[in-house]
Amino acid sequence: SRQKLKAIRKEETLTKDGTKVEILANIEIDSDVEEVKYNNAAGIGLFRSEFLFLQRENNLASEDEQFEAYSRVVREMKKKPVTIRTADLGADKNPIWNSTHGESENPALGLTGIRLLLAEQGFFRTQLRAILRASFYGKIQVLFPMISSAWELKQAITQLEHAKNELREEGIPFDEGIAVGAMIEIPSAAIAIKSILNLVDFVSIGTNDLIQYLLAIDRNDESVGYLYDPLHPAVISTIGHVISNTNKAGKMISICGEMAGNPKLTRLLLGMGLRKFSMYSANILSIKKIILSTDINEITPIVNKILRTENREKIYELIDKLNEDVD
Ligand code: PEP
Ligand code: MG
Repeated sequence: SRQKLKAIRKEETLTKDGTKVEILANIEIDSDVEEVKYNNAAGIGLFRSEFLFLQRENNLASEDEQFEAYSRVVREMKKKPVTIRTADLGADKNPIWNSTHGESENPALGLTGIRLLLAEQGFFRTQLRAILRASFYGKIQVLFPMISSAWELKQAITQLEHAKNELREEGIPFDEGIAVGAMIEIPSAAIAIKSILNLVDFVSIGTNDLIQYLLAIDRNDESVGYLYDPLHPAVISTIGHVISNTNKAGKMISICGEMAGNPKLTRLLLGMGLRKFSMYSANILSIKKIILSTDINEITPIVNKILRTENREKIYELIDKLNEDVD
């Protein structure tokens, strides 16, 4: 069966009815690109850049070191898009600045993601400069993590504009058309998605954190793991709200959380209007196989039923029905 999956590597990702879908890859370090290329991903939907800082003793990669890492990935990916998420530190990811900002009683609700970047403007500016410099060598998109409001997103964009101005003054080239996006992983951003869409070119749903915050379940706490449910009706309706509003606004949307790489959920997400999935390279071909076998017209009535019910048993039953012919 691995052999069979291998055979679809170079095939175009189209549903049975001819709808174009993009499968992108999540990476953590630049050497992950080898597997991305092997699986022929349409691009990188999530480069978790924080790993560049977590790997190091003193935890601060210089602008040039970052530039080298980002431009290496971009060059390897040729003209395919590479979405670099600015450092998502804090919370579950070893907080480097604990000594500066003090330890948080509740790090998942503390100084994390964009909050930490806005509090550490020197660090943030350095990373934005490195990303912009690398954007000259391919197609980079910049993605801000843990956005909770339009107000906060505007501050991040202002920092990006400052970094652009610096480079212009220094005569350093970068892609003037670089696309900007927001992670949708905090419920407030999902609910107020229209206010976010006004400010960005694309959004990417981080289902790992979105589920954590919607259901008040620590994503790393095994004692409540049984409650961590991507099929909770509140999760489905929140994701549906984000997808439909983003599609309506004519902006790009992807999912880069674990839900995108879960074969049980592929058809649900297709039926909800998702056309870009970003996942670990290891999941790409099995998800691709399901997409190739799906007729969107056939699944739509079942997906609509799922969206109309809040009954857990019914939802699970309909998911099974959706996947009846998937092996
Ligand atoms: C997410 O929250 O779903 C996500 C993709 O980001 P991370 O898992 O890195 O928090
Ligand atoms: Mg996240």
